Amino acid sequence: MYNPSKVSGAIAEFHSDLTAIRRDIHSNPEHAYKETRTAAIVAERLTAYGVDEVHTGIGGTGVVGVIRGARGHGVGTRNVGLRADMDCLAMSEETRLPYASKNQGYMHACGHDGHTTMLLGAARFLAKSRDFSGTVYTVFQPAEEGLAGAKAMMDDGLFTRFPIDVFYGLHNAPWVPLGSMAVRVGAMMAAADRIEITIEGKGGHGGMPQFVSDPILAAAHVITAIQSIASRNADPADSVVVSICAMEAGVMNTYNVVPREVKMVGTVRTYRKEAQAMVIEKLKLIVENTAAAFGSTGRVNFIEGYPATINHKREAELAAEVGRSVFGPENVITEIFPNTGGEDFSYFLEAVPGAYIWVGQQCEGNFPIHHPKYDFDDRIIPNGAGLLAAIAQHELQG
Ligand SMILES: [Zn+2]
Ligand SMILES: [Zn+2]
Repeated sequence: MYNPSKVSGAIAEFHSDLTAIRRDIHSNPEHAYKETRTAAIVAERLTAYGVDEVHTGIGGTGVVGVIRGARGHGVGTRNVGLRADMDCLAMSEETRLPYASKNQGYMHACGHDGHTTMLLGAARFLAKSRDFSGTVYTVFQPAEEGLAGAKAMMDDGLFTRFPIDVFYGLHNAPWVPLGSMAVRVGAMMAAADRIEITIEGKGGHGGMPQFVSDPILAAAHVITAIQSIASRNADPADSVVVSICAMEAGVMNTYNVVPREVKMVGTVRTYRKEAQAMVIEKLKLIVENTAAAFGSTGRVNFIEGYPATINHKREAELAAEVGRSVFGPENVITEIFPNTGGEDFSYFLEAVPGAYIWVGQQCEGNFPIHHPKYDFDDRIIPNGAGLLAAIAQHELQG
């Protein structure tokens, strides 16, 4: 019988190997759909660890390692998916670490180097122990940062080629204490959508306003009015964010010309489809009618991004239960607010049940994700890898 508290101990025996892999990937970050070197390392390591099959080139650079249980697999058994993301961000590193990025303008500032390494650790353990019935699919995806690598793998037949019944993934969390993990039932991350607003008026002389339809005045009212969506239309117990993040109007060294047009872009964050639909409807009403009231024409273009990451009840509770053995009963946080960031693991959770977990790395002197001085904390590798492996074993006890 497996013992989850011993899994991370077993993985800790190859902690130094895993740390070397993590730092090598960190030095050589690769951006969305260009993770060829990283994918090659993953495929090479999986083969060396003795997994049954390694499949590459799924959804671009995605890799799947297949590990079958020694206690039977195939018909009548279950299949667990474990996921890591491999891509970096297009930003410059300022850590001055000995293993800092060698690719100018690219950096592992979200810790995906660590996620890839932890899943390799889990694969190494599972391929050796095989103390389960069923199959574990270790899924290494491209392009999590904004370019939907998870969806690309699905569109390339991930679930038909690998019949995953239940899916788990994790992310390092500099907002959760080191040595702890957090998981909750329901929303973990928000839907992250983009909005583009255009207000078209009639430009003209800034000193003769009676002859123009001022789109800047209309835009000012639109910006103010759309904040009423979160404060007056959303249920106060729900969370809705509408942010205008950039605008373009007129020419800075021309002080006396009212422009013809104002453009704005921003983001909308919601946790529920109903809230998202409400925001789309209210935005359209406010932009079109407010602009019209000022003699301009307003248009909104709503571009859906990643859906909200919604944990399934059974799987979130199972992850917490296994986590109590791995991290210690007092180190599993289930009372935590969801986060308004986006995450494309959400596509997997819309397709099959599963859970997304935060592994804490908050401590003195540590930087947030997407910061030029951020670094993944190698100390969390054994517990993160151990958690994934132990969850798979727990699911596949037959
Ligand atoms: Zn990120
Ligand atoms: Zn990330």
